[in-house]
Amino acid sequence: MSEIGDFKHHSTCRFCGSPDLAQVLDFGAVPLAGGFLAEDQIAAEKVYPLSLQFCRGCTLVQVGDAVSGETLFHNYFYFSSSIQTLVGHFAEFADEIVGRFARPSEAFVVEIGSNDGVLLRPLAERGVRALGVDPATNVVASIKGLGGRQGNGQGNGLGDRQGDTPPFTVVNDFFTEAVAKRIRAEHGPADSIVSSYSLAHIDDMADVMRGVKALLAPDGHFVFEVYYLGALLGELQYDMVYHEHVNYYSMAALTRFFATFGLEFFDVKELPLRGGTLRYYVRNAGAPGPPVADSVEELIEREHERGLDSLDTYLAFAKRVETSRTELMATLADLKREGKEIAGYGASGRATTIMSYCGIDARHLSYVVDDAPAKHGFFTPGSHLEIKPWSAAEASPPDYMLLFAWSFADEVIKKRAGYLAGGGKFIIPLPEVRIVG
Ligand SMILES: [Zn+2]
Repeated sequence: MSEIGDFKHHSTCRFCGSPDLAQVLDFGAVPLAGGFLAEDQIAAEKVYPLSLQFCRGCTLVQVGDAVSGETLFHNYFYFSSSIQTLVGHFAEFADEIVGRFARPSEAFVVEIGSNDGVLLRPLAERGVRALGVDPATNVVASIKGLGGRQGNGQGNGLGDRQGDTPPFTVVNDFFTEAVAKRIRAEHGPADSIVSSYSLAHIDDMADVMRGVKALLAPDGHFVFEVYYLGALLGELQYDMVYHEHVNYYSMAALTRFFATFGLEFFDVKELPLRGGTLRYYVRNAGAPGPPVADSVEELIEREHERGLDSLDTYLAFAKRVETSRTELMATLADLKREGKEIAGYGASGRATTIMSYCGIDARHLSYVVDDAPAKHGFFTPGSHLEIKPWSAAEASPPDYMLLFAWSFADEVIKKRAGYLAGGGKFIIPLPEVRIVG
């Protein structure tokens, strides 16, 4: 029996304070998507209400209840460096950030949500002083040689390349106005503030914006990547909805919100990787620099044409999500009737949402494989399926694998060509159910 955990219900919009929130999707009471369980934790698993809401006031799409950051991120299971596609992505991101500095060695770059240093490392290797802020204690602790640097923001650790000591500093905390001011007092203003995906996770964005404003140099850039609301709708990525993903951003909602802090968008780009991510470029309003790129207004215009500012669009989306669930469950039921063995592939937050929403559990899947050793031997939230290394599937290949990591489908299919060649098949759940064999 699951117990309802602590959460804060939001009856008003996180961006504009309007009480005019409309429900788009209701997932019921579900476990945390990233709450992988040791066997002895299963009995005490907590669940939390999860719903997706649309603000009629400012059009921000957001989850209706907030689970405390302490609960979500104290022990986090997402290690970016274990995903090879991302390592190349962050090298490219670092090239772009450092490319704007005439003298990289004099530049100071701060990352919000630095995870295991997957971006800090290439930044530091390109010569800038790099400092990350991240609340996940176990992830920060995994950075080899970081030792006593973490925890208090007092690290000096810049440019030290001896032994295993990483050439960057990490503050093990949430990025807030208070933390930003402490960093500025110790290290000076940031020439760039960067962030990859973390802004989706933040309940109190106003506090983060005040921090950005306090820390950013007058001519500094705030460059962040985050999952785009337009992709959620276009590709039916309802599996991106979980407690850790508090906000789903459109250019229009972001622009209005940032303007209230004296910040302006001067460019936006689409990234080819990770299904529907945009890279946004922000500076102090009126700061010198190139004129605002046409891409900003064009995107806002396109959002209006697509109806991203209209509740009807979201209600139609909800209908399509329900249909998708019906199709996936019919496919799994047919295969089980035929006596097929099915395993899951990719024990991610997305997997938890799909399993919670569709009702997938041990009746359908034998186990879930994942490449991250930190998850092996743990159990998936809600469905309580054991997470195993790929070698388990190799030893006794299941007939089908349900590809929860469907946004990485091309990479997985290439990597697991041997499984397919041996007669194995992947079930791709979204945007439409299809079988690859
Ligand atoms: Zn609002």
